[in-house]
Amino acid sequence: MNLVLSQRSLWMWRKIKIMNKTNYYMQIALEQAKQVKGEIPGGAVIVRNDDIISYAYNTKENDKYVTSHAEIIAIKNASKVLNNWRLEDCDLYVTLEPCPMCGWAILQSRIKNLYFGSYDSQYGAFSVAHLDKISDSKIKIYGGICEKECDNMLEDFFNNLRT
Ligand SMILES: [Zn+2]
Repeated sequence: MNLVLSQRSLWMWRKIKIMNKTNYYMQIALEQAKQVKGEIPGGAVIVRNDDIISYAYNTKENDKYVTSHAEIIAIKNASKVLNNWRLEDCDLYVTLEPCPMCGWAILQSRIKNLYFGSYDSQYGAFSVAHLDKISDSKIKIYGGICEKECDNMLEDFFNNLRT
């Protein structure tokens, strides 16, 4: 039987496929974030040609080192894997909008697409500091991926701090 798809349903199908892929990698970033102990949960995954080449979570408190944010660690691991600081064909998924330190590293690394979950309305590198506007990076940024889940994870963390 021939299944004829109209152009419109083909586009819809492609969109769903892309959405599923994005959600899938964000779920892996969430799994990373859930391994964080005693600090803000944040997880990151770097994907290249549908392969996960790097993943990490926040370990600042554990490392006692200020740059140990999930994104920085994931970038470092990916650069080791590729033996290159240029991550041109790579996509980064992170549960919380990067801070300006990580945001600038992401722009410098030439990552192609950035997908993040929760928006950081206080320190966000892109929604608040607009780092992408002062860089000639061609990065594409997508916020609010699996946003509810990412927000809930952060809320749980801060609620537990208060009790
Ligand atoms: Zn950061």
